[in-house]
Amino acid sequence: MILKLADWQFQVDKEATLERTTKNASDHCECGYCRNYYEAVSAAYPELKLFLAEFGVNIDGPSELMPFAPTLMLACYRVQGQILQWGNRELAVAGVPITVETGDENTFLLWVGEVELPWLQEEPMDEVVSPANLPEFMERMQEVWLLRHGTELIFS
Ligand SMILES: [Zn+2]
Repeated sequence: MILKLADWQFQVDKEATLERTTKNASDHCECGYCRNYYEAVSAAYPELKLFLAEFGVNIDGPSELMPFAPTLMLACYRVQGQILQWGNRELAVAGVPITVETGDENTFLLWVGEVELPWLQEEPMDEVVSPANLPEFMERMQEVWLLRHGTELIFS
């Protein structure tokens, strides 16, 4: 199907995208940061959930989640389809910016964020054990943040 949003135009295989993201949702990282994203995001951003559903994206099925801070996430969703027309207007839903990127194998990526969320977990956010706390991952997050914001991210 063809999806038109502002001055953007996409060709989207909703069924394949739903299948992919639902599979991600059933097999995701169980660390506190990720659990908090899955528990909080739909209630905090219902419009974002509807926006993503137009692409066939299950909001609980990102292919990557980056916690810049425990309550500040960047989520990447992979959509089966193509970008037919690159828009000049930036996409955003409920104040959350959405960046579009070409992916491989007839896919494109929706980078959603940063998304600010409430912390709903019992464990204190500064005691979470997560792969995202490994130095390699934190380096990658620093790089991504620098690309997006042009400044260094200072972890508290
Ligand atoms: Zn995780």
